[in-house]
Amino acid sequence: MRIVALAGGIGGARFLRGLREAIGPEDEITVIGNTGDDIHLYGLKVCPDLDTVMYTLGGGIHEEQGWGRTDETWSIKAEMKEYGVGPEWFGLGDRDFATHLVRSQMLTAGYTLSQVTEALCVRWRPGVRLLPMSDDRVETHVRITDDQGTRAIHFQEYWVRLHAAVDAEAIVPIGADTAKPAPGVLEAIAAADVILLPPSNPVVSIGTILAVPGIRAAVAAASAPVVGLSPIIGGAPVRGMADKVLAAIGVEATADAVALHYGSELIDGWLVDTADEAAVAAVEAAGIACRAVPLLMTDVAATAEMARAALALAERVRG
Ligand code: GDP
Ligand code: CA
Repeated sequence: MRIVALAGGIGGARFLRGLREAIGPEDEITVIGNTGDDIHLYGLKVCPDLDTVMYTLGGGIHEEQGWGRTDETWSIKAEMKEYGVGPEWFGLGDRDFATHLVRSQMLTAGYTLSQVTEALCVRWRPGVRLLPMSDDRVETHVRITDDQGTRAIHFQEYWVRLHAAVDAEAIVPIGADTAKPAPGVLEAIAAADVILLPPSNPVVSIGTILAVPGIRAAVAAASAPVVGLSPIIGGAPVRGMADKVLAAIGVEATADAVALHYGSELIDGWLVDTADEAAVAAVEAAGIACRAVPLLMTDVAATAEMARAALALAERVRG
């Protein structure tokens, strides 16, 4: 079975760890990772979502934090601070820096982001084929209005520095409209037996991947069943501030509203948490097969159960 999953950072990575546990030895997973969160800092290219997937599946993640390296130290950051050089709000630890140095060095030498990602994965052995959504630069910006007026800021500044405390008025994946899917992305979608949308952020993770011209159409046209899992439980994101970016695109932060936002042209099946059992009927009425199962990724075993439920629903809708 060839499985394709579109993934953001923490929600995507944790789900993939369960999915990897749930499949057989012959099955293959291709991950199409969000690069709209990428940011250039100190002349380095940082790819937070790709790295979170790579570190999580490769056993190098800081578990409690969900991002960055385990047993991290912060000497470089402290030295930068002594020079008065920021941003102080973005955490890059010493071990993490090595990844960004290798990536940036390879990009400068002329390798593509896909090639660099493949090279980094030689070390991390994530057990999946990890493809960036695009080799072209895409950076999500958020329009806000505060005491400095109305302006667009980088998604990381919105999320990490401002903690999404200001309302997001619009979400713009700058560069997406002219970006091309990375090599292998459309081919993997077309050849997939199952396509999964993990419980990643529907706007700034999955939405950004789908904004790369050709990807949404390929998923919608794929012969494989497409099944998603809700990142929203009981009317709130499990973690993070997805409600803020959903509000910016006029979507309610409920499990059924997110399913309807994806729509029946894109997804065939949708899993909601058992707490959202009441949402099943509305999703099914929209032409999307829906089941309520426990969706809290408390550990790998519980997450593997979610993955099995998603694969079972895919079999069901395959008809
Ligand atoms: P990010 O790039 O690090 O923000 O990660 P993603 O976009 O991949 O995932 C973020 C989403 O994961 C958030 O909207 C959370 O609500 C969701 N999430 C995190 N933990 C869980 C969980 O245990 N269960 C479910 N259903 N969703 C989760
Ligand atoms: Ca992200």
